[in-house]
Amino acid sequence: MENVIDLSGKTAVVTGGSRGIGRAVALALAGQGAFVVIADRSDWKAGDESTTAEILRLGGQATSKNLDVSDAAEVDRTMAEIDQEHSGIDILVNNAGVLTAGSVLETSNDQWRHQFAVNVDGTFFCMRAGIRSMRAHGRGGKVINVTSISGLRANPGFAAYCSSKAAIVNLTRQAGIDYGAEGINVNSVAPGFVETDMTAIYDSPTRRALEAQTPNGRWAMPKQIADAVLFLASPLADHICGEVLAVDGGWLVGTPVRIESD
Ligand code: NAP
Repeated sequence: MENVIDLSGKTAVVTGGSRGIGRAVALALAGQGAFVVIADRSDWKAGDESTTAEILRLGGQATSKNLDVSDAAEVDRTMAEIDQEHSGIDILVNNAGVLTAGSVLETSNDQWRHQFAVNVDGTFFCMRAGIRSMRAHGRGGKVINVTSISGLRANPGFAAYCSSKAAIVNLTRQAGIDYGAEGINVNSVAPGFVETDMTAIYDSPTRRALEAQTPNGRWAMPKQIADAVLFLASPLADHICGEVLAVDGGWLVGTPVRIESD
């Protein structure tokens, strides 16, 4: 039988691939044959613990680049380097992100700017450089931006984070319609609650409350988000443009509280 998700010969860039969702995405793409470039601030110096080392141990192909996605000049330089070294970029996963808690009154100027610098500017800078490379090589490509359920629905006490993720949703839709005709599919995944360092901020009671509000009753493992990214990075998603795919156990669809009638 044909392997429908065969990414051999493709170069994939994953931002924030050192841990959490990005690490799972990098492993998933490499598992289907892609050459994965991990672009973030720590994987290149993490040695045996790095995602790159893990992929190589498993027989895949990977390398890492030191990149702060919020630095436009660094993004342009690094993405151009990757483009040259790999004769183009085929898949770009904009996963790098940070989370700051705080309502409007609790959010400082610096916190607001940092959220937008990494989550929104970072996605925009990388997407611009990635699409530039895809267009130059004329093979089309796949861009997957990692937003959040918090970009589609308010989340109490996360003003800057929710706003930054909402910006990614419409940036995805916009680029999705601008580049679809060139065979460049820009889409997004919107994870619900996922077991990573980012969600370690929640104490046990909060966590139990959030699980109880999730229709399938649990948080996701990073691999479950990676599986959705893999689908959007594959030819199976060739006709999908500007879409936002929630991977949230039904969180956005409805609450699991049943109203009993007499
Ligand atoms: P995580 O475990 O905190 O990992 C974040 C990753 O982003 C790390 O690899 C980190 O690199 C990288 N990063 C942060 N700032 C960066 C910068 N300026 N330049 C380059 N890389 C940077 O988070 P996660 O939970 O895996 O989240 C990954 C993505 O999913 C984020 O965009 C997040 O908003 C989104 N998301 C997460 C959840 C969830 O429940 N966990 C839900 C919805 C959406 P370092 O290791 O160098 O710090």
